[in-house]
Amino acid sequence: MSNPIAIASPRGGATTYRYRPDAPDTVATVAVRLRSAGEAWWVAGVEHRLDVLGSWRAALVEKRRAIVEALAEDTGRFLLATTEFDAALRRIDHWTAKAPALLAKESSGTSAMAPTVAYRHRYSPVGLVGVVGPWNFPLLLPLIDAVPALAAGCTVLAKPSEFTPRFVAPLVQATAQVPGLADVFAVVRGGAETGEAVVDHVDAVCFTGSVPTGRLVGARAGGRLIPAFLELGGKDPLVVLADADLDRAVAIALRGSVVATGQACQSIERIYVHDSLFKDFVERLAEAARQVEPNLDRFDEGHIGPFIDPRQGDKVAAQLDEALARGAVRHCGGIVRRGDAVWCRPVVLTEVDHDMLLYREETFGPVMPVMSFAADAEAVRLANDSPFGLSAAVLGAPDHAIAIAEQLNCGAVSVNDAGLTSSVGDVEKDSCGVSGVGRSRMGDSGLTRFLRRHALLIQTAAPPPIEAFRETSAEASGGA
Ligand code: NAD
Repeated sequence: MSNPIAIASPRGGATTYRYRPDAPDTVATVAVRLRSAGEAWWVAGVEHRLDVLGSWRAALVEKRRAIVEALAEDTGRFLLATTEFDAALRRIDHWTAKAPALLAKESSGTSAMAPTVAYRHRYSPVGLVGVVGPWNFPLLLPLIDAVPALAAGCTVLAKPSEFTPRFVAPLVQATAQVPGLADVFAVVRGGAETGEAVVDHVDAVCFTGSVPTGRLVGARAGGRLIPAFLELGGKDPLVVLADADLDRAVAIALRGSVVATGQACQSIERIYVHDSLFKDFVERLAEAARQVEPNLDRFDEGHIGPFIDPRQGDKVAAQLDEALARGAVRHCGGIVRRGDAVWCRPVVLTEVDHDMLLYREETFGPVMPVMSFAADAEAVRLANDSPFGLSAAVLGAPDHAIAIAEQLNCGAVSVNDAGLTSSVGDVEKDSCGVSGVGRSRMGDSGLTRFLRRHALLIQTAAPPPIEAFRETSAEASGGA
């Protein structure tokens, strides 16, 4: 039997939550159960599946308070727990509207390469989909994959982060209220061992998490030759061009960097500002950052919560210490510790360079290192100088900003805003570099990636006889 996992509140104090992680044997048993329901789920058709998802939505709404309160305990923040819950409901709405047309789309035609062959596609679901999630948006991120997978006719085995376990019980209660849903959707709890077992027993895996774990998951899935959709870390740059509006740039940079305490994959982690604006930008950004309050005393006040996993706070502290030791200048902010809990007042740094740890690794904290550039080409070079390529942002006169955005190596660029990928879930994008592998979970491919296309190739003319394959010499055939 696996040892219990004890989780303290991100806000510190005595509260701990204990649970026994699901052992690999249990995961295997749950996978067999889900798999046995797969065919009936697919055969029942999309309308039936969407009815079930609709009932799930209603059951989730009924449990809203319990889920949001548990999420708030898990993450140490209240408002974002409510917006996270609402965003999860929007995913159900989105796929309910989209799925029928996506599943009805049967492509057919005639092959251009072999004009006597007509073709038709039929679809089948990939089977049992494993969803392994991180702690930063513990409910939403697994559901972003689980909902379209279920709509597509797959069954789903989800494993949220071991560090945010409290929301699972009310989620499972809401699931149990919907007839038939627990046959095709199950949640297991635990850490790496449970996650490995999920990868070992599914037909495709959707993983959201860090680059190092993503490599392990990708290698394990590769060993089994199953598809792996990996959504990994980011180091998003924000470029402020000479013709950007300064007030707007400061507001966007601050919000883009510090919301959710920077614990979002699309957080702005590097800022590049044109020389002509640099001094004013830094002064105003620091002034605005000083007004941002951590929710130290009550979790439903202030603007930003603690680090959900305090060890993330230690990582941010180490990056800051290293940058300061190498000559960075801090204009505001820093780490706040209360017992084991860790917060960070937003930090603005200058005199920074790309050799510092905070440029080489993901920070996942409210830290804003600012560098200046003299020419657009330099801004593009600096923004692209990273192994990550999740997303980016460019601020400036619209045509100018779009021209620069088109040169950035990443999945999505927000123009005259930042972090738009957190609200725009219906536009496909493919990550670059180490930020991800596999078809986009945004846009239509968020669902169609769970379907296999089987081609029916129909010969409409007399097929070639074996005589057509009689060997001949190159000279006789007139070939080279
Ligand atoms: P993590 O990689 O530590 O863990 C993610 C999940 O993987 C957890 O559920 C964990 O239990 C599980 N896991 C750990 N070892 C495993 C193994 N060997 N096999 C299978 N599963 C295993 O990530 P985290 O610290 O929880 O989350 C933060 C990271 O997630 C950041 O890097 C962030 O950028 C990334 N993230 C990416 C996106 C995106 O869309 N690209 C979105 C949110 C978060």
